[in-house]
Parts: sequence; C-alpha cells; structure tokens
Amino acid sequence: MNILFMGPPGAGKGTQAERIVEQFNVPHISTGDAFRLAMKQGTPLGQKAKEFVDQGLLVPDEITNGIVRERLLLADCEKGFLLDGFPRTLQQAEALDAMLAEMGRGIDHVVNLHVDRGLLLARLTGRRICKSCGATYHVMFNPPKVEGICDKDGGELYQRSDDTEEKVGTRLDEYISKTAPLLEYYSGKGLLREVNGEQEIDQVTADIAGRLRGSNE
Ligand SMILES: [Zn+2]
Repeated sequence: MNILFMGPPGAGKGTQAERIVEQFNVPHISTGDAFRLAMKQGTPLGQKAKEFVDQGLLVPDEITNGIVRERLLLADCEKGFLLDGFPRTLQQAEALDAMLAEMGRGIDHVVNLHVDRGLLLARLTGRRICKSCGATYHVMFNPPKVEGICDKDGGELYQRSDDTEEKVGTRLDEYISKTAPLLEYYSGKGLLREVNGEQEIDQVTADIAGRLRGSNE
C-alpha cells in the first residue's frame, strides 16, 4: 500500500505516521531521512544536494525528486511505503506521479490530518522553557505545578520567540496556502482521506487505519 501523509505542523502527523507504518508494515519515508541517507552514502544526487545545503540554499526540485525516487526504489518499498513531507508542491506531486507510473505503481491513499487553526495555534504556542535548566513544559499538555515556574529548580519559564502566536500563525498560513492546491489535486483523483486530527490519539489512528482499509468511506 502506497500512502502519502499530509497535515500542518502540530497536527500530530509524526506520531500517527509511526503508528500506521507499524500496523501496515511499510517503511516510513520522510524526505529529511531520505536526504540524510543520500548525503551519508555520498550518492551523486546526495553530493549535489549537499552542495546546496552547505551553502544554505534551497535544494532544487529535480534533485529532491531524484532522491525520493532512489529511496522508493530500495527493496523495503516493494510492498509499499508511507511518504511524509513530500510532495510539498503541485510540481512535486506531478513528478511523483510520473516516477511511480514509470515503476508501474501509484498512490493509493492521501491521508490529510485536519486540525482547526485555533487548536493548532494553542498546541504550538504552549511550549515554555526554564531559563536555568532548559526543562520544557506545555501550558496545556505538560503544565508546571506553579504557572511560570520550573518544577525542578524554581527557575522562570519563558516562551521561545519562534513559538509566539505571530510566528506560528505565519508558519501555519504559509503551510495552508502552499498545500491547498495539493489537496485539491488529490481530491480530484479521489485519493484524499480527510481525518479529524482533533480526537484522542488512539481514535485518530483507528480512523486512519479504517480509511486505509477502505471502511467508513
Ligand atoms: Zn528548571
């Protein structure tokens, strides 16, 4: 089974992907891992990618696509895969379709974890860090015993500048506008499986697995 996983930051995509690959016994392929592997092995594409990364430049699509292609050709992908973090653009989606067609394969399901923007903001802006020991808390999921104070050493808790509502909001809006055409593309092909990511973690996993097995369509 060939699965794509999509969802905004804070939707719990990584956690769900880990659970699904275990249930369906397919490899979890993140573009980050595929890049690190190609660079570590020093494949021609990995070497090219490294030149861009070392200069702090965006890796061009043709290299990214090639690295994904090489990864999908490895033996562990024969019975399927869960691809996470790729494609990010319509051009990449079309390139993925072309390379899969060339392998005589295709995408079976595109899972999109849906979480309301307000809830994502709450999840992503709730992190607090201790100024003295660096311990991390979350105002919703892992609050300190006393608000604003570290349990371990009484240090003051602060919010990283990347975690502010303004920064997180911008990241979310960028994600939403970039992926909207992709969702439309896969929806048009009848492949999109929208899953409510606001539920309990176990329920989300059960819903995804149900959609992948073709029940509760
Ligand atoms: Zn502390």
